[in-house]
Amino acid sequence: MPYETIRKPQKLSFETQMPDWATARQQFTWESLKEVLRGIPGGGFNLEYECIERHCEEGRGGDLAFTWEGKDGSARTYTFDDMRKEINRIANVLSSLGVKKGDRVFWFLDRVPELYLGLLATLKCGAVAGPLFSAFGPEAVRDRVQDAGAKVIVTSPALVGRVYEVIRELPKLETIVITDRAGTGGHRYLPGEISLECAVAGASDRFDVVRTSPEDFSIMHYTSGTTGKPKGAAHVHMAAFGHYHTARICLELRRGARYWCTADPGWVTGTSYGIFGPWLNGAHVFVTEAGFDAERWYQFIQKHRIQIWYTAPTAIRMLMKGGEDLPKKYDFTSVYFAGSVGEPLNPEAVVWGQRVLGLVFHDNWWQTETGCIQVSNYATQAVKPGSMGRPIPGTEAEVVDPDGKPCPAGVEGDLVLKPGWPSMFRTYWRRPDLYKSRFKKGWYYSGDRAKKDADGYIWFIGRDDDVINTAGHLVGPFEVESALIEHPAVAEAGVIGKPDPERMEVVKAFVSLKKGFAPTEDLKRELADFVRKRLAAHAYPREIEFLDGLPKTRSGKIMRRLLKAKELGLPLGDTSTLEE
Ligand code: ATP
Ligand code: MG
Repeated sequence: MPYETIRKPQKLSFETQMPDWATARQQFTWESLKEVLRGIPGGGFNLEYECIERHCEEGRGGDLAFTWEGKDGSARTYTFDDMRKEINRIANVLSSLGVKKGDRVFWFLDRVPELYLGLLATLKCGAVAGPLFSAFGPEAVRDRVQDAGAKVIVTSPALVGRVYEVIRELPKLETIVITDRAGTGGHRYLPGEISLECAVAGASDRFDVVRTSPEDFSIMHYTSGTTGKPKGAAHVHMAAFGHYHTARICLELRRGARYWCTADPGWVTGTSYGIFGPWLNGAHVFVTEAGFDAERWYQFIQKHRIQIWYTAPTAIRMLMKGGEDLPKKYDFTSVYFAGSVGEPLNPEAVVWGQRVLGLVFHDNWWQTETGCIQVSNYATQAVKPGSMGRPIPGTEAEVVDPDGKPCPAGVEGDLVLKPGWPSMFRTYWRRPDLYKSRFKKGWYYSGDRAKKDADGYIWFIGRDDDVINTAGHLVGPFEVESALIEHPAVAEAGVIGKPDPERMEVVKAFVSLKKGFAPTEDLKRELADFVRKRLAAHAYPREIEFLDGLPKTRSGKIMRRLLKAKELGLPLGDTSTLEE
């Protein structure tokens, strides 16, 4: 790799939460966090209590907790005390609907405050929260609500039609709650529906948190659907330990920090680090209802003096596509930590961030199943662009051979974790066999391929299914994609293995170009040559196809399986999370 290690990734004007990785790994115990996350006085452990009520009980209720900005420019700000009251009202409404411990309550909303407050209120009732991304169509809603057997769904006038399209297939659904605080819908209520605003207006702002146990289910998240049908990963209240710890040491979250996580709570990043991690640490969470727009994002950071920013590779690539002149108009000096997750972060994106924004994006790796970050680059420690970083204190992450034995440095293998960290998923909903199949030889198998270097840094290669075997050589799509996007014409690239009678597979690249570049045969040759010079000769793409854009999940991941299915003329499989 031609990229230099970034020795001092961030100039810190604060005391870091993790000065030394090796010592922290030796000294850390999950048990030690019980001094902070002590549970409900009198017994029980509830994730909502630890996120919100604890701060109020311990005298921090007046701290700013949440600033929300609507699409129309309207804004709301809440202290922890305000949040506690709003959450209590919603919890009272849910209880009055008969919601009890263990019931599933789904939230199908845009990024409005009620989504954030409501998910926490669900936990406070002891019920299991299920977030649904607001761009889901009726079938995606049906698959999840039906699979989970949800009792209540909370949605908006704009989205409720999608629920009605499939309502006959949701026999367990008892109540539809509509939230319309904006009053935009002029909604006419049908039997079986209630208005959240009306119900909340008459509800008490006091509510006794349900005394759940650490092992009771708290939230279930369906995976992104990148490799196949989304699976419902179910988590427990005790996951709070994982969120709290990693938000501190991997994202540097702390009391009062002005924090923006760009992920929607429909995906696990949007709850673990959009809700739980920051509020467990007493941070001030900023949310914008509006979607991606490079200029709006830069404005948001400058206007709110964001200090910690957690985003995703696709968004960073889109910022790169937006050019270098735009960011020059804005001031990002408030940001002291920037992180990225969800997909491989191309080294070029790290270097671009440092050069153009003055920010090093710290990549970290985890999954819906792991509940919290497992491998991370840390604020004060050397960043190797293209590496996901090193295992967190409290987790053993390894790269292993087919016998489950650690691979020597530099050798590719399966990325596995030693089971037992607190935020590990406890099952795939109604798919216990699939769940069991992920545990072998004493490890949890992530389904990703990686290698570890001599310093313990882990480098992502690709998903199990995506690794390409060409004439006996294994090629990870990520390295080819990263080489391609170093070329000035390339905005994004998705790489697959195309079956080939001679070589088993050949590398095929789908490429979308930046504005101003023409998709010519000459450019194809130039790109192939460009990769050949950077990587081994067998890894260059023998075929290149230009596309206007690449198919992605709504959480922003390139869907290589769809590129492959289209290439081979095969059925597309589950496309419920495909971006339109
Ligand atoms: P599905 O399991 O339904 O196919 P998914 O795996 O994309 O979807 P998520 O749980 O949202 O669903 O994503 C986790 C996966 O995302 C990881 O297993 C990994 O493949 C990828 N990923 C996450 N972070 C990184 C990262 N920093 N670098 C490389 N890959 C990453
Ligand atoms: Mg997965």
